[in-house]
Amino acid sequence: MAVQQGASEFELIRRYFVGPVPANVLGPGDDCALIPISASASLAISSDMLLEGRHFLSATAADAVGHKALAVNLSDLAAMGARPVGCTLALALPRVDHAWLAGFSAGFQALAQQTGCPLVGGDTTRSDTGSVISVTVLGLVDPQQALRRDAARAGDDIWVSGSLGAADVALRLLQGELATADTGLLQRLRPYLEYPQARLELGQALLGVAHAAIDISDGLRQDLGHILQASACGATLYYDALPQHPDLAGLAPELRQQAVLAGGDVYELCFTASPAKRTAIAAIGQRLGLQLSRVGTINSQRICQVLDGAGKALELVRGGFDHFA
Ligand code: ADP
Ligand code: MG
Repeated sequence: MAVQQGASEFELIRRYFVGPVPANVLGPGDDCALIPISASASLAISSDMLLEGRHFLSATAADAVGHKALAVNLSDLAAMGARPVGCTLALALPRVDHAWLAGFSAGFQALAQQTGCPLVGGDTTRSDTGSVISVTVLGLVDPQQALRRDAARAGDDIWVSGSLGAADVALRLLQGELATADTGLLQRLRPYLEYPQARLELGQALLGVAHAAIDISDGLRQDLGHILQASACGATLYYDALPQHPDLAGLAPELRQQAVLAGGDVYELCFTASPAKRTAIAAIGQRLGLQLSRVGTINSQRICQVLDGAGKALELVRGGFDHFA
């Protein structure tokens, strides 16, 4: 999960933490690291932190914080096509609040049980500031089939699961950055922000079907940009094909565009696959009861553009791809 200062996070990681790893190990740069444990299985590992005030508002229900702390990590396993096997939890707390801890634990454990990802260890300490929650998840995946960011090919379709924009609008409403006459809107969109669902079944179903995948934690354009950079490709996205959450229809067009293309906290999968797999992918969507939208094409030109309904390049409200600037 990104810090809020744009792309500098990735520069820091490249500069200080990307070092040599053995040839059969996948190191920093993908949704999970992969370490082989047998010829057909690698351990998939990912860590994500949640900081009070940065990744969740202090007023958020403890149960939701517990759920989300695990869900955002499971989402990285989903993005590799890995099956969860366990997790650890490191907690730094400013005070002992039993009511909060009971809620947090209930939310965390319910999701751990539901996804077959038992909590097997961790660390607990005092924090001098807000709460810091750090989760590490472990999963298993066949390394030959794992959905890596560097596996997109020119000519691939680009797909997105579920819908886009709901969590971003919910966050803006909660922070008072957005006014709407629709009094029920926040209540309808809030679950997307507070109880995201990691697409574990989808990720595993896409093994052998999709090429590259990433989970949309930092916004579709930025996260697709990671696939493009890792795969040395470009992309065309069709704005009208993007699965905008239906409840965004009443918002101003610029707000919707920002939520759909740049809004984070989505935890849906963006993946690429050969056009020959369209029928297979439609069948997976049917079986899982999950909307899968074909939203663009991968090309070899190393630029990313978003086209409107008339085929004209959209003027983007916020930022472009840093990577190709
Ligand atoms: P995600 O959004 O999928 O969780 P991030 O954007 O947080 O991924 O991180 C990008 C990549 O950099 C990931 O492969 C992650 O494991 C790696 N990474 C992030 N921070 C560090 C670090 N301090 N040391 C080593 N690798 C890191
Ligand atoms: Mg990720």
